[in-house]
Amino acid sequence: MKYYSLNENAPKVSFKDAVIKGLAPDKGLYFPESISLLDKELINNISEYTDHEIGYEVIKQFVGDEIPKTVLKQIIAETLSFDFPLIDIENNIKTLELFHGPTMAFKDVGARFMARCLGYLNASSQKEITVLVATSGDTGGAVASGFLDVKNVNVVILYPSKKVSDVQEKQLTTLGKNIKALEVDGTFDDCQAMVKKAFLDKSITSIKQLTSANSINVARWLPQMFYFFLAYKQLKEKGKKLVFSVPSGNYGNICAGMMTKQLGLPIHGFIASTNANDIVPKFLKTGEYHPKPSVQTISNAMDVGDPSNFIRIQEIYNNDFERLKNDLHSYSFTDNETRDAMLHLYNNCDYIADPHGAVGYLGIKKYNLPNDAYGIFLETAHPVKFLDVVEPVINKSIEFPQQIQAVIDKTKEASFIRTYSELKSFLLDN
Ligand SMILES: *Cc1c(COP(=O)(O)O)cnc(C)c1O
Repeated sequence: MKYYSLNENAPKVSFKDAVIKGLAPDKGLYFPESISLLDKELINNISEYTDHEIGYEVIKQFVGDEIPKTVLKQIIAETLSFDFPLIDIENNIKTLELFHGPTMAFKDVGARFMARCLGYLNASSQKEITVLVATSGDTGGAVASGFLDVKNVNVVILYPSKKVSDVQEKQLTTLGKNIKALEVDGTFDDCQAMVKKAFLDKSITSIKQLTSANSINVARWLPQMFYFFLAYKQLKEKGKKLVFSVPSGNYGNICAGMMTKQLGLPIHGFIASTNANDIVPKFLKTGEYHPKPSVQTISNAMDVGDPSNFIRIQEIYNNDFERLKNDLHSYSFTDNETRDAMLHLYNNCDYIADPHGAVGYLGIKKYNLPNDAYGIFLETAHPVKFLDVVEPVINKSIEFPQQIQAVIDKTKEASFIRTYSELKSFLLDN
């Protein structure tokens, strides 16, 4: 499979090059040259397939012959190594829990898949790859865990000092081996700015092969398609209309969902549910797209003012606004509405949602499901990852699952940096 740059000013590349480079030289996102419908037989008889078989059928056209079948199957088995249960919430409303992986956030799937693809694709090269990533919390942990022990790949994670939760900090800083954490005296935006500067710094890139591990990378973005198929597999009545509500920040996850409709999965509609960062809801209302600086909310993994994957969604719909509006709805919710939803879910549905999942639930409620439809909201993180927000709302303490127990008492190891030149020295010395 070939990938082209959405800025249309760079050569087409193979899957391998798209994964290694991350972003095209013209700074555009890579997009697959073709998208083919899957065999109807898979969709009609999906309950008879294992999760691993479904994953393979869904992803194979996007990898092509660049990874041998047996290796790709192994990568999928190691990626989908935990459950994705579909839980009943209310009449016709369900949630798909994506947080049963090693770091308890849905980013585990993308990070594990990308890490293993990169490990395989770079195995024959003498050159080590450095994955450089800035995190506001969840990405760092998932990337650290996903890339641990991958040969010839080093990971450097920048995080803002004192601005990630204790659990998140431990997930980033306690693994050792090929994972290095840099604690930055600044905000997430400062971390992001330093990372961007390093990617453009020839005195680093002439010596080190740098790549990023956020959802702009096709190997992190595309495996998110698995969730939508795995949800469909678990539905008892396949004939009903199906609507997904996806808590959205960079719009990678929902964009992967919209790809599955192109593959033939019968999805009636998508809801991009978000917090006060309302660029996309405003766009769907007015037709005008105005990125702006992000504002802080309690669902902070969605605090994004210029969603990087939205351009891919527009490409899927050939930039046809009316067609897009048929499939995509988008609503923004305040922190108070989010807290009320968490409390409502706890009191009335016996369900503890994290703030992102609660925003997803609100999206389904606002959409007004027809009677002949199922609404599924994605629960993107375990509530324990947002303890400080969730516990005071439901007035109950949340038990630490075993994945979290395992890291919380380990010793943090991180280098403290203040300036870009300290990052540069670190990259050149390590
Ligand atoms: C990253 C993240 C999101 C947003 O996903 P996008 O693909 O960036 O839209 C939502 N919830 C949680 C918990 C996340 O970590």
